[in-house]
Amino acid sequence: MDFSQSKELHEEALDHIVGGVNSPSRAYKAVGGGAPVYMDRARGAYFWDVDGNKYIDYLAAYGPIITGHGHPHIAEAITRAANNGVLYGTPTKLENKFAKMLKEAIPSLEKVRFVNSGTEAVMTTVRVARAYTGRTKIIKFAGCYHGHFDSVLVQAGSGPATLGTPDSAGIPKAVAADVITVPFNDLEAFKTAMDRWGDQIAAVLVEPIVGNFGIVEPHQGFLQAVNDITHDAGALVIYDEVITAFRFTYGSAQQVYNIEPDMTAMGKIIGGGLPIGAYGGRQDIMEQVAPLGPAYQAGTMAGNPASMAAGIACLEVLQQDGVYDRLDKLGARLEKGIVVKAADAGVPISVNRLCGALTVYFGDTKVTNYDQAEESDGEAFAQFFRLMIEQGINLAPSKYEAWFLTTEHTEADIDTTVDAVGNAFKKMAEKF
Ligand code: PMP
Repeated sequence: MDFSQSKELHEEALDHIVGGVNSPSRAYKAVGGGAPVYMDRARGAYFWDVDGNKYIDYLAAYGPIITGHGHPHIAEAITRAANNGVLYGTPTKLENKFAKMLKEAIPSLEKVRFVNSGTEAVMTTVRVARAYTGRTKIIKFAGCYHGHFDSVLVQAGSGPATLGTPDSAGIPKAVAADVITVPFNDLEAFKTAMDRWGDQIAAVLVEPIVGNFGIVEPHQGFLQAVNDITHDAGALVIYDEVITAFRFTYGSAQQVYNIEPDMTAMGKIIGGGLPIGAYGGRQDIMEQVAPLGPAYQAGTMAGNPASMAAGIACLEVLQQDGVYDRLDKLGARLEKGIVVKAADAGVPISVNRLCGALTVYFGDTKVTNYDQAEESDGEAFAQFFRLMIEQGINLAPSKYEAWFLTTEHTEADIDTTVDAVGNAFKKMAEKF
């Protein structure tokens, strides 16, 4: 495949945009660097790059594009919004309509507020939890990503009951000291942390189904125990459903397990591809937010008519019969195909899948926490990633990311992908 136009654009970008990209993982650092592929056009399950190469896409823009690229219903809604003026700075009917749709889909949302990104949504839930409880510390789970605000770019200290250290330059140690990180799916570690810090904890921040070191489900009973212990300590449970809302079912991961958090943060899919975030939860907690309460949060672009229209249209597509069954069937076909090809080639992998999202880890370890995901062979993934892109299959450039299916992928796309996986594994087999 010829990537010469992508290479040229990358050279140009390096002169103007820091690192050539507007979000670090796009730089392919985790897969050996070099010029990333510059996409030119997208439709349904496909991408065409600036050199004219065609790809089947499993990046789905890191999750939001569940209905495929350029879905006509969403495109029409965005066009209508564009023609009516994209930003008013006043309330609109669309906000009410969309808020009602979210509340109907996710019953724990007694009140909601729209913002512009997942980061903003999670950041505000943390502030509101602190305002509500009058406490400052939070607990999060290792390897989970909650956006790029200071309090969540924090690593574990030297044990489950130690305070965190900054995971990025520019974050004050004092901020990290208010964050405790424990391994996901490790109830004993969580109990130890809560025994030590429980009365200082404002909130426990949970990805109910992890999406940031692959797709990792909670052990049976884990989420309920986290809820019970957190509430016993007078703290709040925040679910970060930025990836999971509307990904596995029409609604949220909390409904998959029938557990209600106190607050939920969302983003990605609910914007239909346009920038969005939203948070919500129990009414008495949400009443902390300005203009009703003392916790401040605002946004020039928040609730803008274009994002609202795109989000409503996306949810309307997802309400159609059989959407999630279809994603599940396609996901199962893809998983089965990958597993068979790995066995044929003798490449050790393990796959985690839920509905239309899966992760392929290179190694035998079944992944239930971040340490196990870290063991997945990054060099093997990097080789796999390159072999796939050269065959016209676009994956996220990181061993930790999921492959996301859309409603537009076909069985034929899956079979083409599985053949490409087989070719890649055959080439990789020499290594194992
Ligand atoms: N929370 C989770 C679970 C996420 O996966 C992400 C983004 N990958 C965020 C928060 C941050 O969202 P955004 O990139 O829209 O700020």
